[in-house]
Amino acid sequence: MSRFFSDRHRELKAYTPGEQPKLSRLIKLNTNESPFPPAEGVAERVREEAARLNLYSDPESSALREILARKLGLAPENLIMTNGSDEALNFAFMAFCDEGCPAVFPDITYGFYPVFARINRVPFREIPLREDWTVPLPEFRSCGGTVFLANPNAPTGLALGLEEVEEILRAHPDHVVVVDEAYVDFGAESAVSLIDRYENLLVVQTFSKSRSLAGLRLGFAAGNGELIRDLRTMQYSTNPYNVDRLAQAAGIACLEREEENLRRVGVIRENREWTRGKLRDRGFEITDSRANFLFVRHPALRGSALRDQLRQRGILIRWFDQERIRDWSRISIGTREQMEALIEAVDGILKA
Ligand code: PMP
Repeated sequence: MSRFFSDRHRELKAYTPGEQPKLSRLIKLNTNESPFPPAEGVAERVREEAARLNLYSDPESSALREILARKLGLAPENLIMTNGSDEALNFAFMAFCDEGCPAVFPDITYGFYPVFARINRVPFREIPLREDWTVPLPEFRSCGGTVFLANPNAPTGLALGLEEVEEILRAHPDHVVVVDEAYVDFGAESAVSLIDRYENLLVVQTFSKSRSLAGLRLGFAAGNGELIRDLRTMQYSTNPYNVDRLAQAAGIACLEREEENLRRVGVIRENREWTRGKLRDRGFEITDSRANFLFVRHPALRGSALRDQLRQRGILIRWFDQERIRDWSRISIGTREQMEALIEAVDGILKA
């Protein structure tokens, strides 16, 4: 820390991103990326758009929003495109939380939420998940703040049903409920269909996971037009050209190939269930993950030991240095070959 660093940030503990290794031989199951390249045609469209990089991008991503709105059964006014969904979440913390309206989220969830709260200087409250990692709905019903719920949750993978999301929405008519659907396409129900009924609902999604575009940084928030205008104010107050030309062009090309994305999601789901079975046979406890990762623990292996020993065998997974989940690890789902290599490595570790 330099002597110039503002006192305001001295206590800030920044988010720790998963490792992005320089060695390409490693099998990367640590940051929930897609193992597949972007849909066909995306790279070509990016190359074409590169010729226009002398010009700023459309700050409203109009063409992309139009296509996405049609796909989701919404109007373009219900959407704002962002630089990854992290930016949409940050805008929501900026726009909808303050001293009188704390952010409220589970104790075990996406680790960026407390960081967003701190950098924006808003109070936050963490509600403990139950022992089985389910969300204690009654406590969220009366929490008196802006609710942030990842659905499916990370790193547990558990999903809430739409009736449960609605229960929280109905209990908070005067607060925004942000449903972070980064992993929804892998097996949960999206709350997008509820947007016209709940003016307090904001749904956040990403192109990083099911659409194979993590490196591009493209996400969006969907909600009623007034909420979206509030987020637009945050965008125009921080980075008006938040989604660059390449991202807008790639996003459009990607949506035109939605069947290809869906097919790959199907493969990842199959690989998840295959891996679940193999790990269960080897004594792992595994949550009912609806996402593109599994949350696992083994009675004979600490979470950090599994992480370290897999790394020695060339496989990266994610472990969180956090009280309640120290015994657990999160394993992203890759190709079948990658998952076979994982199981082989696990066998080697368990035999050693
Ligand atoms: N929400 C959750 C729950 C996540 O796990 C992630 C990925 N780290 C994000 C949002 C952000 O993803 P992105 O910024 O790539 O859209």
